[in-house]
Amino acid sequence: MAAGALLKSSHFILQSANTLRQLAPLCRSFSVQLSEQQCYIQELCRNFAETHLKPKASKLDKDGLFPTEEIKKLTELGLMGATVSKDLGGLQLDYLSLAIAVEELSRGCASTGMIASIHNFLYVNLVNERGTEEQKELFLKDYVTGKLGCFALSEPGAGSDVASISTIAREDGDYWVLNGTKSWVTSCIEAWGTIVFATIDPELKHKGITCFLVPLDAEGVFRGRKQPIMGIRAATACDLNLQNVRIPRSYTVGAPGEGFRTAMAQLDQARIGIAAHATGIAQSALDTAIDYAKQRVAFGKPLTKLPSVIDRLTEMSVLVETSRLLTYRAATELSTKNSAMAKYVAGRNALTVADHCVQIMGGKGLSTEYDAERHFRDSRGTQIYGGVTDVQKRLIGHFLLKENDAL
Ligand SMILES: Cc1cc2nc3c(=O)[nH]c(=O)nc-3n(C[C@H](O)[C@H](O)[C@H](O)COP(=O)(O)OP(=O)(O)OC[C@H]3O[C@@H](n4cnc5c(N)ncnc54)[C@H](O)[C@@H]3O)c2cc1C
Repeated sequence: MAAGALLKSSHFILQSANTLRQLAPLCRSFSVQLSEQQCYIQELCRNFAETHLKPKASKLDKDGLFPTEEIKKLTELGLMGATVSKDLGGLQLDYLSLAIAVEELSRGCASTGMIASIHNFLYVNLVNERGTEEQKELFLKDYVTGKLGCFALSEPGAGSDVASISTIAREDGDYWVLNGTKSWVTSCIEAWGTIVFATIDPELKHKGITCFLVPLDAEGVFRGRKQPIMGIRAATACDLNLQNVRIPRSYTVGAPGEGFRTAMAQLDQARIGIAAHATGIAQSALDTAIDYAKQRVAFGKPLTKLPSVIDRLTEMSVLVETSRLLTYRAATELSTKNSAMAKYVAGRNALTVADHCVQIMGGKGLSTEYDAERHFRDSRGTQIYGGVTDVQKRLIGHFLLKENDAL
């Protein structure tokens, strides 16, 4: 076919709305221009992080102190109900704005960024998007204006293998009775309410999983000790033991058996938050390395004049930008694959960037009196919580093969 005729026929094809719809998922381009509101949120959170988080991050980490005052201030700014409608006290933001906020907060203090990310992406968004009016009244309104919420899926015997959870839900008249132990529940020590995933029949595997809302002051709820962890030490995570906890039927989110799908969809969102959190940690490590390299003199000149240091800083900046772009895409074009890719890349990049930061700072990189080692410790968990790196890679591979009819 002659070039002119080809162009003409392509033009005709592209004009067909149906064909356009078919081509849309194959489109390889992605562009992002932050809106005025998104830029405003970025500036607001950046200033907040500089003023309120960065100066205290090291002490909170060393003492393992929960950032109570900082979370209170974030609540006053509306950022603990970021996507919730304004009449419920939220900011009615989109996911990209929330991801931008998490990145900037994590840049100031990784623990605070993590707490805000889990509360918003895993708790608030689930209740806001899937809850009934009664559930929103009881489990959302106050959680936008001060109370913390959490998400209890993992168990001592089931992390990545979600379908094997053993917390049991038994029907008893107008109630469900929950028994079992959850592990690693972020902010559970400080929280007032939690989402709990339990099975109505372990034989049913993922088809038995059901999602419940549980007030943490209910009879039979016991919290474990704060887990001692290597990074994000100002955040808390603990076991949650449920012993004959009776909750009304109306506290079930969705129908019995729908919990697995709910959990997976919420983890897609959580991975955007963790990718943003990892990008913030990486950006902070890059900032730390540049500040240090500018003032440290070796061989009669600043480190920024040494080719090997320039090379490291260059690689660090490329990794940070790559993480940011994938995170922005995941927050804009929602899909399991995009979220997994953003988390996979941002988690790995955060560790690599933090490692370069330690190296550029030499001996001081290892000293607990400087920020580099904290960035290094903070970056590690981003490859574990919200779904381990290995599972993200498997998810990406699955969708890659599916898109290419190769499953
Ligand atoms: C600080 C922190 C906070 C957390 N917060 C929460 C929370 O708020 N709520 C919550 O529910 N959970 C939370 N978690 C739990 C977290 O989500 C799990 O630790 C994580 O999903 C991994 O589960 P696991 O620890 O049981 O590891 P496992 O599932 O036992 O995996 C261990 C290793 O085995 C390999 N592996 C396992 N499965 C696969 C697979 N399918 N393919 C390839 N390799 C595999 C990987 O190398 C993996 O790293 C938190 C964890 C931490 C550390």
